[in-house]
Amino acid sequence: MKTYSIAIHGGAGTLVKGMMTPDLESQYKDALRLALEAGYTFLEEGKTAIEAVEEAVRLLEDSHLFNAGKGSVFTATESHEMDASIMDGKTLNAGAVSLITGIKNPVSLARDVMEKSEHVFLAGDGAMQFAKELDYKLEDASYFYDEFRHKQWLEIKDTDSFQLDHAKKKDSKFGTVGAVACDQEGNIAAATSTGGMTNKKWGRVGDSPMIGAGNYANNKTCAISCTGSGEFFIRGVVAYDVACLIEHKSMSVKEASEEVINKRILEIGGDGGLIAVDAKGNIAMPFNTEGMYRGQKSSNGIDAVSIYK
Ligand code: ASP
Repeated sequence: MKTYSIAIHGGAGTLVKGMMTPDLESQYKDALRLALEAGYTFLEEGKTAIEAVEEAVRLLEDSHLFNAGKGSVFTATESHEMDASIMDGKTLNAGAVSLITGIKNPVSLARDVMEKSEHVFLAGDGAMQFAKELDYKLEDASYFYDEFRHKQWLEIKDTDSFQLDHAKKKDSKFGTVGAVACDQEGNIAAATSTGGMTNKKWGRVGDSPMIGAGNYANNKTCAISCTGSGEFFIRGVVAYDVACLIEHKSMSVKEASEEVINKRILEIGGDGGLIAVDAKGNIAMPFNTEGMYRGQKSSNGIDAVSIYK
């Protein structure tokens, strides 16, 4: 049987080691483990890579610890605007949503865009209208509220900065979540979901819902989910760049991912990480920050959740 695998991330903006307590560390690891096992079980049962990445990301969205779904960061107007995307490496079908509010699991709405609309990317009021037509239930703001996120926002709310501005303070700068998987058929998929950046305004959208920037999947190359300074990941077309290095320069998924995260994105001033898997089930998870909440599990025996280097 072919190797099947899944990798997940909860963002490359981990708490700096000094701020992480043993109790908090085990909460993060438990939440990662839950999502990893759920996605892996789907693969074990013969479900598709798309089903596995959606399930893993839904569970990460349901945890208040990560900046996606419940626990999303606050915008400049004290609301939550979430972005998500999903892509199927077998068909190159993709779905994405941006600037949505009140949706418990943005990744599932992205999947519905892919499967139930003629389009790839729906944003703002239109995306909400689409959700309404599909009878999505809306959660009120209290569902998404997280005290730590609110405190982060209060600290910068009257300034022009957003949490991307992390030079002085490196706590929890990126908290996007994502999953990539290779199923028993050798099909791969990627999903990414985020609340974006604290204190963002003007309808700011990062790389996470942009196919080719924060998320991409193609059976010929790899499936990728990114986390990091979105503006740079958009300019670097990071996810597609990794796929291009594999396709045109015959690099392995590991070589290509490392080239982009440890060299190309740094050269243009960005930081963060990504998770990637190819159609043989090989996983790569490079990051150039202090840590990245992450997990990987494969039918070839790999099984780990980690935070720091
Ligand atoms: N890449 C995300 C964004 O720019 C942030 C993150 O990874 O946490 O919206």
